[in-house]
Amino acid sequence: MNRIYSSLPTTVFEAMSALARETGAINLGQGFPDHAGPEDVRRKAAEAVLDGYNQYPPMMGIPELRQAIAAHYAHHQGLSLDWQSEVMVTSGATEAIADALFGLIEEGDEVVLFQPMYDAYVPLVRRAGGIPRFVTLKPPHWKITREALEPVFNERTKLVLINNPLNPACSVSSREELELVGEFAEASDAIVVADEVWEHVVYDGRKHVSVLNIPSLRERAVKIGSAGKIFSLTGWKVGLVCAAPPIMHVLGKAHQFMTFTTPPNLQVAVAYGLGKDDDYFVSMRQELQTKRDRFAAGLAQAGFPVLPSAGTYFIPVDLAPLGVGDDVSFCERLVREAGVVAIPVSAFYEEEPVKTVLRFCFAKSDTTLDSALERLSRLD
Ligand code: GLN
Repeated sequence: MNRIYSSLPTTVFEAMSALARETGAINLGQGFPDHAGPEDVRRKAAEAVLDGYNQYPPMMGIPELRQAIAAHYAHHQGLSLDWQSEVMVTSGATEAIADALFGLIEEGDEVVLFQPMYDAYVPLVRRAGGIPRFVTLKPPHWKITREALEPVFNERTKLVLINNPLNPACSVSSREELELVGEFAEASDAIVVADEVWEHVVYDGRKHVSVLNIPSLRERAVKIGSAGKIFSLTGWKVGLVCAAPPIMHVLGKAHQFMTFTTPPNLQVAVAYGLGKDDDYFVSMRQELQTKRDRFAAGLAQAGFPVLPSAGTYFIPVDLAPLGVGDDVSFCERLVREAGVVAIPVSAFYEEEPVKTVLRFCFAKSDTTLDSALERLSRLD
């Protein structure tokens, strides 16, 4: 058995959702909306199943979807992508990250990661033979600085894995921060893999800047998106991958023996959805932002010190001012005494975890948010 995997605990998202199912607590842990998602997109998928889109599609994705991805990012992010040589469809963003790691690094290569980070990253880096090097970002602004990058980059750095917007910090990297990463990546001749699954879920009028928008990164970066996040259909697991042709060539080789392909019926529906009017994307953001504000205000009123949320379905709360120093036991207490599930942010660290921050998911109905707030306000 492989040591890296046999010693892993069950991912915090599955563990906390299982706890919510067992105890009947309100689940504000794992990030998924509790509405059905856009009906037209779901209808397209259902029709595609009935219309016979059920056999192996082309390995890199159906042309219709690859063209739609290129057109979508041209329209929303000003990117110019060649759909045939620079676009691929995967079975979720996590597969795309695995493809990138397995395809782009060799045993002993160093991979720079930013803590807090999504819990799938480090096991995949290690399994791919990489040596993780961590940059630790600090609340409340979680900024990437030159001082933080200097000690981790060297001639062995082959890959940088970033997540922007950053889950669970709920922060958004500025163009300057991405340029800084680009400068270091270029100096080490490293490739930047950017998990941009939250690209459409940004608030207060922000506009997402992709790694592919940074000139120094255009030819040395992989951009990864997720239809699940774009359409609030998190179980669909359709990943959207873009990179310059030489990189994409290798990603395709990794993908061919990872999942090979992705359900064609979902690809048809995603191709349709990516062409939706701007109104859809604007109102999705607006609805979520209203929920964020409602939930943040309620949390503050219940005495929880709320940190900013610039994007994602989440809001972080820093309990340090309340003297809480163990986020895991505080989460257990929340389930037991309040009947609310949150995620302890220490689960997103490999080294020197911050143990005072919790993450709540606010992509829920107002009724669910209000009853969670009512329960949280009764906590002593
Ligand atoms: N991305 C989701 C989150 O952060 C979880 C996905 C998963 O459960 N693996 O909550």
